[in-house]
Amino acid sequence: MVEKVYVTYNQVHKLCQASADHMLNEFKPNLMIAIGGGGYVPARILRSFLRKPGSPNIPIQAIGLSLYEQLGTDPQVEQPGKKVTRTQWLDLSSLEMANLIGKNVLIVDEVDDTRTTLEYAVKELEKDVATAAKQAGRGDERATFSIFVLHNKDKEKKGHLPEDMMNEGRYLAARTVGDVWINYPWEATDIEEHDKMAEKQTT
Ligand code: 5GP
Repeated sequence: MVEKVYVTYNQVHKLCQASADHMLNEFKPNLMIAIGGGGYVPARILRSFLRKPGSPNIPIQAIGLSLYEQLGTDPQVEQPGKKVTRTQWLDLSSLEMANLIGKNVLIVDEVDDTRTTLEYAVKELEKDVATAAKQAGRGDERATFSIFVLHNKDKEKKGHLPEDMMNEGRYLAARTVGDVWINYPWEATDIEEHDKMAEKQTT
């Protein structure tokens, strides 16, 4: 059976706090893109720690991505895979995508499991920013993406992130864990029970 790990709101808060300085100093984000639903709460917490005195809050944009099982056309031959589907995306025709051009954009999610979702997010955002730059007559201008996750599972990844992102250290996981199942507090229907389970783990 897969080991279950319970994470509390306070732990999430502290993981964001402990990671914020690195992001401020290295990523210097102008805006965040939270991948929903797991990225929303960490992004909001992080915003409080990324705020510089006298400066406005960093804007948070939201995208929604979900993974579903996909069978190949011939299930006898092809292995079932996981495909990402967009449930919410930035609007290419409005200023939303153009707003990313030339910016340092921090992508926030709660967990990097197979990396499929993050690969999709980075690839598609890069593609759309390139299209937006072309449309805006800003030629080769791009966005610089970085990634923050609360947890990275130390396992073989199916998805891959751009080499320059990894080489330049634009990927940060607050914690690296084994191949466990993490229960986040915002998924709990009984938060007292959730916190009790978390407490039990530490005692
Ligand atoms: P990936 O694309 O990296 O395989 O998976 C990303 C998504 O799968 C996450 O954003 C999350 O929604 C879900 N997921 C993967 N592992 C876990 C986990 O341990 N706990 C929870 N709550 N969700 C997970």
